Amino acid sequence: MLITNGTLATFGEKNELIPDGALLIQGDRVAAVGTTAELRKLYPGEETLDAAGKLVMPGMICAHTHFYGAFARGMALKTEAPSNFPQILEYLWWRLDKALNPDDVRSSALVCLVDAIRNGTTTLIDHHASPHAVAGSLDVIAQAIDEAGLRACLCYEVSDRDGEEIATAGLKENERFIKQSHNERLAATFGLHASLTLSDETLERAVGMARELDVGFHLHAAEDKADVDDSLKKYGLRVIERLEEAGILGPKTIAAHCVHIDAFETDILRETGTSVAHNPRSNMNNAVGVADVLRMLRRGVNVGLGNDGFSNNMFTEMKATYLVHKLAQKDPRAMGADQVLEMGFHNNARIAGLFFGQPLGELSAGAYADVILLDYVPTTPMDVGNLPWHLIFGMDGGQVNTTIVGGKLLMKDRELLTLDEQAICARSRELAQKLWARM
Ligand SMILES: [Zn+2]
Repeated sequence: MLITNGTLATFGEKNELIPDGALLIQGDRVAAVGTTAELRKLYPGEETLDAAGKLVMPGMICAHTHFYGAFARGMALKTEAPSNFPQILEYLWWRLDKALNPDDVRSSALVCLVDAIRNGTTTLIDHHASPHAVAGSLDVIAQAIDEAGLRACLCYEVSDRDGEEIATAGLKENERFIKQSHNERLAATFGLHASLTLSDETLERAVGMARELDVGFHLHAAEDKADVDDSLKKYGLRVIERLEEAGILGPKTIAAHCVHIDAFETDILRETGTSVAHNPRSNMNNAVGVADVLRMLRRGVNVGLGNDGFSNNMFTEMKATYLVHKLAQKDPRAMGADQVLEMGFHNNARIAGLFFGQPLGELSAGAYADVILLDYVPTTPMDVGNLPWHLIFGMDGGQVNTTIVGGKLLMKDRELLTLDEQAICARSRELAQKLWARM
């Protein structure tokens, strides 16, 4: 397929903006990038997709999400309003996850996948919990991913919060799923909840399994001060120090949040090559604090962006990233749009690259053909230098017109081609109502 007549934003090392650009897709890869005139001449017989008036760019990557949280939208808590993060976990998330059955897991995932395709998020790194339906839960999500045609890395978040039996089931679910054969669009890693719900014994078992399987971990780290207090009280170590001593950190590990870490812990993250997923919308919503992302970046930590279960619109997450650090530092120079895009594309692509061999997050020959077309007509001059500011101030997920993953069209002219949105939403409303009643 030859995408023609679009404005091509390649990102990646070349980072070009090609007016009247074209992109050749062969199989699941980008085969060539150039101008429409050049590629038309080279590939005259190729089927074309006209992108006139559109911006053609790589699909978005989300480095940390929770499909299982989809049914929380609009749900009333029958408790007092949570006044701190541990209460948010106890009153909301740990009640919801315990009520999930396999049908809910499937439905929650599909709802998020519709949203992801609509907003041009083509790779998602999920972190799943359903303590009363652990075994096989990752297969249920994998099936939904397969139907949607998106790219995802899955794991089960092991925790001791529901007792030893469920912790063991979580460990086994990770092991079972990681051992299964995967394909180019589906990967697995080892999931852990967070320091505050994991004993030393469980961490040790997880490390043993992960070493054997040659995988890293995906977990929450120092999201709230409560995680730090718990770790200091029980183990005399800060969260990142504890995780390092336990053997959790390393170049294949993703630590989500890292809001409450000090300079020493930041250096541990860099030295171990651990990646961080920053989720500013979630951090603001839970009022846990502002992660010192600028310090992490300055010190050489690979920080990407996730949504932590918020909408799968990474344009919005980027806007939140752009805004929150300016306010937190009371300095409008803090966090330029270029730094935001560096995290959203380059750093997220490094994280996704841990699971999917070929380049992602860029349009270059050999990269996976994960491509989105946006209805975007710039109202001011646009070049490769100011593209990040056009994205932050002028673009949003709703402008995504066409979504392609691995060379396959998942949405064309806003019409979904792999999933039945009406049926998925109707089923989700029905199941969510039942789940709310069970809670
Ligand atoms: Zn999370």
